[in-house]
Amino acid sequence: MLKAIACFFFLPVLAAHAHAEQIRGNWEVMGTYFSVTLLDTAPSRANDEILGAAFSVVDILDRQMSNYRPDSELSRVNDFAGRGQIQVQANLYEILLTSELFRASSAGAFDVTIGALVDAWGFYSPRTASIPEGGVIARALESVGEGRLKLRAAKRTVELKSGTRLDLGAVAKGYAVDRAIAVLRERGAAAAMVDLGGTVGVIGSKADGEPWSIGIRHPAGNGLIGKIRIARGAVSTSGNYERFFIQDGKRFSHLIDPRTGWPVAGVMSVTVVAPSATTADALSTAAYVRAPQDGIAWLGACDGVKAIAFYPADDDQIRVEFAGAGAEALFELSDADCFVKTESAGMPSSSGAKVTMGSRTTCAVGSVSPPATDQ
Ligand code: ADP
Ligand code: MG
Repeated sequence: MLKAIACFFFLPVLAAHAHAEQIRGNWEVMGTYFSVTLLDTAPSRANDEILGAAFSVVDILDRQMSNYRPDSELSRVNDFAGRGQIQVQANLYEILLTSELFRASSAGAFDVTIGALVDAWGFYSPRTASIPEGGVIARALESVGEGRLKLRAAKRTVELKSGTRLDLGAVAKGYAVDRAIAVLRERGAAAAMVDLGGTVGVIGSKADGEPWSIGIRHPAGNGLIGKIRIARGAVSTSGNYERFFIQDGKRFSHLIDPRTGWPVAGVMSVTVVAPSATTADALSTAAYVRAPQDGIAWLGACDGVKAIAFYPADDDQIRVEFAGAGAEALFELSDADCFVKTESAGMPSSSGAKVTMGSRTTCAVGSVSPPATDQ
């Protein structure tokens, strides 16, 4: 990930209330942009301190959880694979435990043991990635999946089987947004929006009293395909346009199915709204991976989750699928006429559908029992 560049400045925007301005700090961290917009209710020194504290927590997490930094705690854990247990800090343990819950609730579509596959497909390299040679995918697949990562709560240890490599790219941004929001709350911020590379968390309302408006990027073009308005919770998108390469006229994206070893095809993007950014981030990746086969109706079983998926359709059209009660009203699409709306074949109704995911019927963090961990 990019080295953090502290280019942090304040930008008063749209003062709709006489005494309430929005203050913004911008940085680069975790290989992407990070911005915090704060409703200005404190003296400017306090705002300065609050914004700095939000950046600081994300910067610390980047140094700890990046697999682009050889000295990060995550890299040390990866280097220790095959050599037994290694003790980790509480927050790394927490994100791994949470990730294991999402692996289970997504029937293996989301899996942080995916590192060897991401590596095999060349996505860690700055050079253009390409389809791996013959047996490379099969060999990498052996290092991925259930049982490759063992967590023991008593001493907070992580054990990786030989060859297994953790990658938190699909959940660390969400976790960092939640931590930044928590820091803002602790310091008394009543209304704020945190945006870490498109994973967004909000609290309160904007200066003009309206909910925060968050744009959804058009999966096949420039600009936005729609927007949502929320006053709490988080939103995250996983799309095939973020990182990909084209070979033989086909697009191969950085989102890989841990069960087949191949980049997922047949979906353009999935946007998930959830009570926490960790949930939104993990579930947008999970839903993207499952979408071509299963659709996204299964997300309707996750507490407080609403989602939209965009699929390629005939004649350059885009097929749209919703999940979760009230999702159709929440996602405000521009040019709605251009879309084909269908239910996924064979799936239950996408509005508020309750389906069993793997062995669990809910995927909200905290409401499922943790996966097998030794004490
Ligand atoms: P982005 O980081 O582009 O916003 P995601 O949150 O979906 O998108 O995360 C994508 C990253 O997660 C990939 O770059 C890779 O490092 C990792 N990854 C890819 N496929 C999976 C998967 N099936 N489960 C967990 N992590 C994945
Ligand atoms: Mg994600």
